[in-house]
Order: sequence, then structure tokens, then C-alpha cells
Amino acid sequence: MIDKKTLYQHSTLATLVPGLLKGTLKMSELLQHGDTGIGTGEGLDGELIILDGQPYQVRSTGEVKAVSANFTVPFANAHFADFKSLFAVNHLAGKQLETQILAATHYQNIFFAVKVSGRFKKIQTRAVAKSESPYPTLLATAKAQKIFNAEDIEGTLISYYAPQLFNGVAVGGYHSHFLAAGYGFGGHVLDYTINDAEVQVQAFTTLEQHFPLDDPEFMAHDFAADNIANDIEQAEK
Ligand SMILES: [Zn+2]
Repeated sequence: MIDKKTLYQHSTLATLVPGLLKGTLKMSELLQHGDTGIGTGEGLDGELIILDGQPYQVRSTGEVKAVSANFTVPFANAHFADFKSLFAVNHLAGKQLETQILAATHYQNIFFAVKVSGRFKKIQTRAVAKSESPYPTLLATAKAQKIFNAEDIEGTLISYYAPQLFNGVAVGGYHSHFLAAGYGFGGHVLDYTINDAEVQVQAFTTLEQHFPLDDPEFMAHDFAADNIANDIEQAEK
């Protein structure tokens, strides 16, 4: 039976902070843990979004590509979709929606996913450019990002919420990626305003945290010296 109550996470956001950006899980393996998800490629190679079992990569050129089974990820989330309708929204800013979801669900202390499908009045995304080994830190890599803006665009936003207590394991709060209906636009979401959309949520009872045991650099790294919370705040929000 497919488990729809578990959020699967490969590696942690903290791993990216000092530049441990090696791809340590194949897309084919990630897809065994979900048909929906977000993540990034080796060297922070763009922004990934998985919808209905199909993984897409938004590159720093803005181009959206299908992702192959052998593509590797240093960090990703995935789960099997079982979204429940929450409400429909009109003319609402993303930040307001995030507050309204928590007010309606009281999910502030658990992991949950959000799916927003509809028409966006405007949306701003970014996509990071791939770095080569030896990798720079997350902050340095995130500076080499391209920012994209779209207006009056139809698409799907997938967001994972992590309780603040887990900032470092994941992004504390919401971490959202977007894909346009025509696959011509997407990325890691910085800001948006909805025109009209359906908002669905899915609560998780369990976080399955998978670690890259085969990566000697990760196994040897001392995370105590990294400024994890500060760097995630600057790079991911
Ligand atoms: Zn992201």
C-alpha cells in the first residue's frame, strides 16, 4: 500500500550550507518515495518540481526541462499526493495565504504540503546556476541566481512547510516551487499574488529523513562551524 502520511526527505538543507552539493540520490530512487516533490540538482543545478510523478528542472537560463532517471540530487523532498481541498482564494498575496493556511489548519507544529493550482496575478521565482566541484557555499552559490517574473500566469505551486524547530533540517516555514501550466516558467518561489486558485493541503504524521551515507565529505563534515540558520534565511527566503 502506498504511504500517503510520510514526507520523505533526502539529506538536509544544512548539508548545502557549507557547499556539500554532490548529487547523492538518483531521481529514479527519489520517485520511489513520491509522485510530488521539490529539490535541486548536483551543484545546485536549478530548481526541481515533481508533479504527477513527472520531474521537471527549471534552469538558471529560465528553461524548463524534463529530468532523467539518472539525474542526481543533493537535497529533495517527495511524497505521494493525497491533497485535501482547503479553500478557494481570490486576489490574495502569498504571505497572506501562508498565514490563512496556518489559521485554518493549525498545522504549525507538523510537516505538511500545500498545492495551489490556478491563475497567478504575478509571481517571482529564482533558479540557481550549477556550480562545479570544489563547490562554493550555499550563500555564494545562491548569489549566482537568476530572478524571473511572470504576470497573469496559470500554474501549480507546491510548498512544503516545516515547523520552525526543524529549520536547518529543512527550510523552517514554507518552501515553495512553481511550474507554469505550459512548462514555460517556474522555479523557487520568492513572491506571488494569486488571481484565483484552489488551495489544497496534505498533513504528514511522519518525516522520513534519509542521509547520504555514501558521501565521505558529508560523513566527515563538522556542521558546528557553519552558520546554518543565517545562511538558510539569506539563501532560501
Ligand atoms: Zn527551493
